[in-house]
Amino acid sequence: MAFEDYEPIIGLEVHCELKTATKLFCGCPTTFGNEANTQVCPVCLGLPGTLPVMNGKAVEFAVKIGHALNCTIASYSKGMAQVSDPKAIEDAVDKVLAENPAVVADYKGGKQGVIGFLVGKVMQASQGKANPKMVNEMIKKKLDS
Ligand SMILES: [Zn+2]
Repeated sequence: MAFEDYEPIIGLEVHCELKTATKLFCGCPTTFGNEANTQVCPVCLGLPGTLPVMNGKAVEFAVKIGHALNCTIASYSKGMAQVSDPKAIEDAVDKVLAENPAVVADYKGGKQGVIGFLVGKVMQASQGKANPKMVNEMIKKKLDS
């Protein structure tokens, strides 16, 4: 084939970093310049049994940039019906806390990033349907009291 027979097709993949305090799928901080391997938890290490929890602030920023770029924003995501029944969530939280005493001890010892692991476990138990914000708040309330 001659050079003239080729048609260049150029694609761009653009990434940006959102100014969130924590990572996209766990509660680990994103502080620049910290010591290596200090801002990680079982969730962002991808350890078996962990489940990611979406960072609400990242969703907010993504929707904002979507509006700024005149994009169409989906008003819902398929399969995202949430459980917000406090009793059902509390039962799942109590079970996860009881089953993970070492992680609870890590949290109480100052490793607050491990909350992402616990939230992930509750989300897993609810098959992803628990309201993650409620789960996070309930775990914090129980562990900080
Ligand atoms: Zn993490």
